[in-house]
Amino acid sequence: MTSPVSSEAFVRFDGVQKSYDGVNLVVKDLNVDIPRGEFLTMLGPSGSGKTTSLMMLAGFETATHGDIFLNGRSINNVAPHKRGIGMVFQNYALFPHMTVAENLAFPLQVRKMGKAEVKERVQKALDMVELGVFGNRRPAQLSGGQQQRVAVARALVFEPDLVLMDEPLGALDKNLREQMQYEIKHIHERLGVTVVYVTHDQSEALTMSNRIAVFEDGRIQQLAPPTELYEKPENAFVAQFIGENNTLTGRVDAVAGGICEVVLDNGDRVKALDINTDGAGHGTTLSLRPERVFLNPVDGQCQNMFSGLAEEVIYLGDHIRVRMNICGHNDFIVKVPNSSDKKGLAKGDTIPVGWSIDDCRALDA
Ligand code: ADP
Ligand code: MG
Repeated sequence: MTSPVSSEAFVRFDGVQKSYDGVNLVVKDLNVDIPRGEFLTMLGPSGSGKTTSLMMLAGFETATHGDIFLNGRSINNVAPHKRGIGMVFQNYALFPHMTVAENLAFPLQVRKMGKAEVKERVQKALDMVELGVFGNRRPAQLSGGQQQRVAVARALVFEPDLVLMDEPLGALDKNLREQMQYEIKHIHERLGVTVVYVTHDQSEALTMSNRIAVFEDGRIQQLAPPTELYEKPENAFVAQFIGENNTLTGRVDAVAGGICEVVLDNGDRVKALDINTDGAGHGTTLSLRPERVFLNPVDGQCQNMFSGLAEEVIYLGDHIRVRMNICGHNDFIVKVPNSSDKKGLAKGDTIPVGWSIDDCRALDA
């Protein structure tokens, strides 16, 4: 996704830490620069510190250590309502006794805007989320998806420079969630507003973001655009968390020219890209995507070749998923495109399996 992103940090977390109890740090050392116009997603498992980080940016929690800057200014001592930030949460938080239009008017009235301008802005925001004719309804008269669109409109109605969203689609069913992902993404592209988005759903993050910060246990494990996170994970956690991944563990035997030879736990030898191993003699985790593994590879296609036993073959329409026993692992996954001539494979077959050095990453154990 492309959008006009300036190189200057609009939001900056500088050495930010947070402890709720004075003992445990739930955010350990957050350093992130977010340029104006970016859609940045904080992605990670439950409890990894995403909401806490967002709440510190919003001003509802204070950092135990470090500084947060907005537009070059430290906001540690700026009250939440003076930060000019729009917010959307999972539970919509619409006022049930007000109509949709009144819900949207509220943030404008708080800002002492004149009646005519309020009316115009409310209509514009409702049109933006395609709810232009629903202004007189109450939230309870709308579907979950429509309510969430109202919440998005309300966060944008005062034209903030920055919008924070914390799992805003978590309560919606899968189809609606996917539709809303595109809607929010398109609104971002149209308005050029800076968005910091929190989710635990990796496909949501991949769909929507310019960059993704992968959180684990209060730390960012990797911060990169979606393609890079998927193609070039820097550690085993990111490789596991983003997309499907095969993991093989072993010990580095030799390194030369950026390529290492690894002895797996069962004695098999694999050649892999040396990403960040500690060198010969040290343990490593190999990461390999299921769609980069070939069954019956043609001559010269793969530098790594083994014999695998198909334990399970599952037809999934667009592809076939094969669970194999290979290199001492029986949970090795291979994805075969449905268009492939290898789809005649059946459970119990033993066949050659291979992958290229370029698709196999040796990571710090
Ligand atoms: P995430 O949004 O990634 O699920 P949170 O930021 O909500 O993570 O939580 C990070 C950690 O901080 C968790 O261990 C959580 O239990 C704890 N925590 C969150 N909010 C509070 C709070 N208000 N008081 C005490 N502990 C909290
Ligand atoms: Mg959370």
